Amino acid sequence: MKPEISVIIPVYNEEESIGPLFAELEPVLKSLGRAYEIIFVNDGSRDRSFAMLYDLHKARPEVRVVDLNGNFGQHMAIMAGFEQARGEKIITLDADLQNPPEAIPDILAKMDEGYDTVGTYRIDRQDPIFRKIASRAVNRLTNRMARLDIRDYGCMLRGYDKRIIDIINASCETTTFIPALGRKFSANPIEIPVPHRERERGTSKYGIAQLVRLNFDLMTSFTLVPLQMVTMSGMALSILSLLLVCFIMVRRVVLGPEVEGVFTLMGIQFLMTGITLMSLGITGEYVGRIYREVSRRPRFVVKKIYERGSE
Ligand code: UDP
Ligand code: MG
Repeated sequence: MKPEISVIIPVYNEEESIGPLFAELEPVLKSLGRAYEIIFVNDGSRDRSFAMLYDLHKARPEVRVVDLNGNFGQHMAIMAGFEQARGEKIITLDADLQNPPEAIPDILAKMDEGYDTVGTYRIDRQDPIFRKIASRAVNRLTNRMARLDIRDYGCMLRGYDKRIIDIINASCETTTFIPALGRKFSANPIEIPVPHRERERGTSKYGIAQLVRLNFDLMTSFTLVPLQMVTMSGMALSILSLLLVCFIMVRRVVLGPEVEGVFTLMGIQFLMTGITLMSLGITGEYVGRIYREVSRRPRFVVKKIYERGSE
C-alpha cells in the first residue's frame, strides 16, 4: 500500500540518537492515523548507526533504509531519500532530535490546508552562540541576495508536497541547499514556528569549515549577486584610481614629483591585493561548482536499499 506520508531522516554517526528518535517519532506518526513510511538515509556512518537502522527495518515494515556508499553530506543524503519517497507529503527531519517530532502534526495540518511547502523557524534556538549569530547574518544576507524570503535557512524540519519533490528530483544539482530549492519551486509556501532543543546526544557534524562550505553552496546555488558585486567593486575602484591618476598628473605638473607616503601606498596596495584575491575566490567558488556539475559524476551512490520484500 502506498503511504501518504514519507519522513526522511539523514543519519551520519548518530548511534546515540537513533533509539530515542524512533521512540519519539513513532507514536507521533501512529497518532495521525495515516499510512506513513520512514526513510532513513545512512550517509556513510562509521559507528553502529547502520546496524541499528537495519534492526529497525527488520522490526517495522514502514521503515526503509537507504544505505549510501560513503559520506555525501546532509543535503545529498536527503536527496537520496527524496528519490525513494512514495508519500504525497514529504517531511524532512534531523536525526538528532533538535527539532522534536511533535511539530510534525502542525506541519501536516498546514499541508492539508493546501500549502505546498511548510517551512519552519526555530523559536528559542538552543545552539552555541557563535552559530546563532552567524546564522542570523547568513539568513539576512541570503534573503537580500537570493530574494527567497526564508526566515531560518538552517531548520531542516520541513514539509514538501510530492509535486515539489518531483521538481527537486528533476533538477539534478550536485551542490545545493534543500530548503531554498523547495522554496524556489513552491507556489504556496508558509512558515511556522517550531521548538528547538539542545543536541543531547552525539555531536554536531558541522565544524566551521563545513559551515562555510555549506553557506557557499547556498549562496552560489541561488544567486549571482556576489559575482556582480565583484564586477561592481572593480568598476568603482577603476573609476577612483583614474581620478587619482589625473590628480597626480596635474599635481606633478604644478607642484613637481612627490616622494612621501610610501607606507600609505603599501597600505592601499595590500587592500587592493586582498580585494583581488577575494574576488578571485568568489569567482572560483562558482567555477569549481560548474566543474563539479559538468563532470557529471553521480551526486551520491546508493549501496543498497532495505525495505520490505527487498531481501
Ligand atoms: N548529517 C548527514 N551527513 C553529514 C552531516 C550530517 O547525514 O555529512 C545529518 C546528521 O546525522 C543529522 C543532520 O544531518 O541528522 C543534521 O546534522 P547536525 O545535527 O550535526 O547539524 P546541526 O544541527 O549542528 O546543524
Ligand atoms: Mg543538529
